[in-house]
Amino acid sequence: MQIGIIARYGTEWNLGDVEPVTLGEGNTPLVPLPHLPGEPEVWVKVEGQNPTGSFKDRGMTVAVTMARAAGKRVVICASTGNTSASAAAYGARAGLTALVVVPEGQIAPGKMLQAQMYGARIVEVEGRFDRALALVREAVATHPEWELVNSINPYRILGQESAAYEVVDALEGAPDWLLLPVGNAGNITAYFRGFRRRGRGLPRLVGVQAEGAAAMVLGRDLEHPQTVASAIQIGKPASRAYAQEAMETSGGRFLAVSDSAILEAQQALARQGIFVEPASAAPYAGYRLLAAQGVFRPSERVVLVVTGNGLKDPATALAHNPIRSVRWDGADLARLEALI
Ligand SMILES: *Cc1c(COP(=O)(O)O)cnc(C)c1O
Repeated sequence: MQIGIIARYGTEWNLGDVEPVTLGEGNTPLVPLPHLPGEPEVWVKVEGQNPTGSFKDRGMTVAVTMARAAGKRVVICASTGNTSASAAAYGARAGLTALVVVPEGQIAPGKMLQAQMYGARIVEVEGRFDRALALVREAVATHPEWELVNSINPYRILGQESAAYEVVDALEGAPDWLLLPVGNAGNITAYFRGFRRRGRGLPRLVGVQAEGAAAMVLGRDLEHPQTVASAIQIGKPASRAYAQEAMETSGGRFLAVSDSAILEAQQALARQGIFVEPASAAPYAGYRLLAAQGVFRPSERVVLVVTGNGLKDPATALAHNPIRSVRWDGADLARLEALI
């Protein structure tokens, strides 16, 4: 049996006769939210169900496959967390050394733990993500046998196109709107290319950022991005130009939402059974903002891309949602019934 997105799309992508490095990524559910009269139809693309819990796996399978085929020995990345977890897993699977460079103290513990468990070498550097990426770029410039697996690697973006194909297949055409969180802007670039390649329509692409890290919204880089949504705490989007084109060509927009709106959206999604990390709740916060402005028509179809699993960042969720249990010494059925 063949698993993963290279088995499905590798021929179309002309990857050649390569042995896929796969963990069974892709094919994630598109879950409908309850449809209320007078509101658009909304689906959630649950990317946290990929093997390491984020959409990064779609690109990583292709990038690591091609790195190994090219005889590389090391995969290296800078990361706000999920890229390092994914690079570590696929590196392990490929028998390559994974070297991950992360901003010190800025990574959700679950993601650090993943990189550690998958056997990566972990380097923490002072400063923000952008500083880590600069070091990684310098490293690959001097070590030809090391492969950079950040989203500036074109195979990452290519692999991530697969999510757009899946949306088109599931809805039998493109939706009217697609909202997703934007950090380095690689993923919005990938959806744009993916919808284009499918040729069944292009949704308005809405890139949602956190207010404290809204480099695309503001149209300039930020030295000190700050947000509770650590996965999108990025000041200098690496794919800025592509993302700008994607937004303009599709008739979409960039949008900033506050950290408190993100945390509320995270809780609201969880109450529908979908627990995502803070960055992944940004599209739902953005959807609520635009819906309140009357942007969507009732006949329209909207897809929210939720990019990473909620269990990756329990500390943030717990800080805002302390466990509210009741403690009993002598418990009895009547007290249990009284809770309902
Ligand atoms: C990487 C990541 C993003 C941002 O994707 P970009 O391609 O950098 O814009 C959003 N959410 C999560 C959970 C991520 O891991």
